[in-house]
Amino acid sequence: MKKLLIATLVAIILISGIPLFLNWYTGPEDEGSLKVRLYRNDIDKIEKLSLNEYVAGVVAAEMPAKFPIEALKAQAVAARTYVLKRIHAGGVVNKLHPGADVSDDPDRAQAWISREKMKERWGVVNYYRYYFKIRQAADATKKMIITYDGKLIDPVYHSACGGRTEDSGEVWKYSIPYLKSVNCPYEADPRPIHTASFTLPEMEKSLGVDMSAVPVSSGESPVKITERTDTGRASKVRVAGVEIPATVFRQRLNLRSTNFASNIKGDKVIFTTRGYGHGVGMCQYGAKGMADHGCSYREILKHYYTGVNVQKY
Ligand SMILES: [Zn+2]
Repeated sequence: MKKLLIATLVAIILISGIPLFLNWYTGPEDEGSLKVRLYRNDIDKIEKLSLNEYVAGVVAAEMPAKFPIEALKAQAVAARTYVLKRIHAGGVVNKLHPGADVSDDPDRAQAWISREKMKERWGVVNYYRYYFKIRQAADATKKMIITYDGKLIDPVYHSACGGRTEDSGEVWKYSIPYLKSVNCPYEADPRPIHTASFTLPEMEKSLGVDMSAVPVSSGESPVKITERTDTGRASKVRVAGVEIPATVFRQRLNLRSTNFASNIKGDKVIFTTRGYGHGVGMCQYGAKGMADHGCSYREILKHYYTGVNVQKY
């Protein structure tokens, strides 16, 4: 009985002590004097963070913390590579905020959230569990980066490719040797198919294309895919006689991907999309699937980034 009492007391001290420990813990700080100068939009200030504190905040913002640890590690190495490439370039990417290496605005750089934001997003109980996990993903991959030909890569990633990633040249101006199309063997997106519907006036407004002459009674979608990429995604789209690159079309209608089909129902055009994001580089749900199948973060990175090295800087 006395033993049980002591064990209970020890357990209580340990459990209540973990949150205190985590608040104090900032991880191993032996990364030299390297700091990330982050422009935070919410407080309109530049904050100096240790590299891994920054990396953990990116992982928290960019990938669900409930993902397996090897997927989180792959995300951490991608996040570190991304920011080091910016720092090595002189931190001049964000001309809006001189003196900052990166911004936390997801439209300008990779997203980042503070620990306060994590608490808000996850709730206090999950915060201690998840912060420890993402911090572990950052610390366990300390100094690891991705290189191609000895240089830091641009480690782009997206949510779900839908079965096969896209070649960078299909989405952007240049085809980059390590951003080739690869298959995605274990994609774990629980809901890969989504639909979005628009009335013709809504489409006209978003696309800036005159839709007044489009016959709706024909029962045929006014959107024709006139060219496809090798992975089957739309590359060019024709709407009311106007040809638009599918990436622009997707952006204007805010579709989840260029992997879509369309049909007409009543007075609405229905788009059925597969996957989420541009499809280039690491597929996050694919990384989750690979981790679930026992792959390490190195295997995941080397799968999605063709011909790269995962090494210490
Ligand atoms: Zn995928």
